[in-house]
Formats: sequence, C-alpha cells, structure tokens
Amino acid sequence: MGQSRWLTPASGYVSGYTHTLNPYTGCSFGCTYCYVRRLPVAMFRGEPWGSWAEAKKGDPAALAGEIAKAKRKGSVTVFFSTATDPYQPLEASAKLTRSLLEAMAEEPPDFVLLQTRSPLVTRDIDVLRRLGGRVRVSMTIESDRDEVRRLLTPSAPPYAARLRAVRELREAGIASQIAVSPLLPHSPAFAQLLAETAPRVIVDDFFRGDGSAGRRSRSLRMPEAYEAAGWSEWYSPSAADDLFRQLRKRIPEPGAVGFSVDGFAPSPQQP
Ligand code: SF4
Repeated sequence: MGQSRWLTPASGYVSGYTHTLNPYTGCSFGCTYCYVRRLPVAMFRGEPWGSWAEAKKGDPAALAGEIAKAKRKGSVTVFFSTATDPYQPLEASAKLTRSLLEAMAEEPPDFVLLQTRSPLVTRDIDVLRRLGGRVRVSMTIESDRDEVRRLLTPSAPPYAARLRAVRELREAGIASQIAVSPLLPHSPAFAQLLAETAPRVIVDDFFRGDGSAGRRSRSLRMPEAYEAAGWSEWYSPSAADDLFRQLRKRIPEPGAVGFSVDGFAPSPQQP
C-alpha cells in the first residue's frame, strides 16, 4: 500500500507549530472566499472547488510511529488541518480523522489544534477526552447571520449547529475556541454570543488573515460580492477591530481573545 507521510513539517503562517496534518484533499464546503481554490492542487483538478474531497491513502495507525519519531527530536505541536477541513462530510463514513486522533491518543503530541467548521467533531469527543489538555478544538464561526452563510458559504454547516457543537465540547471538558475567521457581516449581538459560548475567541479578516494583506481576497472578488449584497461598509479592517474590542471587554482573561495568526499559537491548557 502506498504510505502517506501524515505529518508535514510546518512552515509559513503556522510556524508556531512543528507539524501540520491534512487528512483530506479538496473540500466539500466550497467557501467563496477560500484561497485554497486557487492553489495548484485545486486548479489542476479540473472540477469546481467544493465539488470534491478525497481521503488521503495510508494507514492512520502509522501516525503514532511518526509522532514517536518526531518526539525524539523535541516538542511536537500539530496544526490539524491547515489546508482543508478534517471533518468533511465524507469523514462521517471514512472516519480517517477519527482514526488519526486515535493514533494520537496512543502516542500524544505535546499539543494539537483541531481546526474545523463541522459539528461532526462532537462524534469524536470520546477520543478527544483521551488527549486531555493536549488538544484544543477550534471551531470556525464567521457570523451569526445565517443568510450571510447561505450567500458566501452555502455548503458549510449552519452557525447554530456549530455553536451547539462548541457548547457540547465544553460540557464534555474539551478545550475549545471559536475562530471568527474571516469575520463576515454579523448582528450587533455577535460579540456577546461568542463570549457566552467560548472561553477563547480568535478574530481574523480578509485584510490580515489571508496571508497576502488582502490581495488573495480581492482576487476572489470578495469586495464585489459584498457590494452586490449591499454590505460594502463591512469590507473594512475596522469591522474586525471593532469586534476584537468588544470581545476584549467581555472576555478579560489574558490571552483569551486573539487576533489573526497570533491567536492560533499552540498552548496546552485546561478546558
Ligand atoms: S472549509 Fe476551509 S478549506 Fe473548505 S472551502 Fe471553506 S475555507 Fe476552503
């Protein structure tokens, strides 16, 4: 069997981590603002972004050996996933992400950030519990207005389901955060909703979070999409700055509200 190398040395904006782990190529969520759709892996595919997702081949149990080997050289911190979501709809049957988490539970890294926008992550609470304070689930929730989701990310799970998932994770004792990434038009009650739901919130936007000072988002015609929806006043760094200030007032604990890449830094912690 062709053997994947599950762990990849981290680089670029995840440089706070030693490794990345991406079990899927492609993504069924197909967000309009997704810059992965412009990367070679998507461009050469010849199929519309959002219409395909594939599980990588290989034995998930082999991840434990890779972690053990990496740990012999020092601390191992994993960003899971950086490219596309580890809880694709396909994951419900493929259970690849689950199997990789099971391998991690056998040979735990020092820290793993599990980044998703799918409530399917709650299926794996039993495995996440085995990782204890070494794991934090980061749930993307970019707005509280579902009509915004339906326009910009129509195949992604509804916000209410994601908020419920964060509550369920917290009740189960799993450390969790909300990644407002990228911030989209939202209601005046959004900051309060976030503060009530998660102990930690990271804010990001099209200007500081796309890795190109906004150029990638412009090339994906996000300003035009906002204008067509009548949301032009939202297409400004001041929207994220304002939410960040509101959150800092509501969640005063040091480090509990982060901005852009700094907010994703690895930090083993208690729920
Ligand atoms: S979930 Fe992430 S990877 Fe998938 S389309 Fe949306 S932004 Fe891109």
